[in-house]
Amino acid sequence: MPPRKIPKEDFVAQVVRDIVRKRGYVDTQRELRYLVEKRLKKFDLGFAISSGRAKKIALNIPEIRIKAKTKKSPKMKQINKCPACEAKIKKLYGTNLLNKRIHIGYACKKCGFSTDLSSVVPMRYMFVWKS
Ligand SMILES: [Zn+2]
Repeated sequence: MPPRKIPKEDFVAQVVRDIVRKRGYVDTQRELRYLVEKRLKKFDLGFAISSGRAKKIALNIPEIRIKAKTKKSPKMKQINKCPACEAKIKKLYGTNLLNKRIHIGYACKKCGFSTDLSSVVPMRYMFVWKS
């Protein structure tokens, strides 16, 4: 096996851009990693990438929108960071029947992730090309 090499960030970004643009979207983080790594290996067989790194790079590409599918979590959970992109997350407030301000969910300004309090666990990510 050739030695494992870490491809440069801007190079990976080009590959990610190209893949998502041509396909329109990529369904999961795992698939993104698979497609990116396959392409990288055409340039150098030693190139490898983790799915977390591929996702982070995709997040910084303005033409790519990341959608996070969430799973219902039985407990209310306090979160400070966006589970999709790790930016600081904003609490959403609403009013209840007694006109009291209550915390109803979370929203991220950076990637658009939002959730109510019952579903804060991201299940899978989708990478969508903004056309
Ligand atoms: Zn976010």
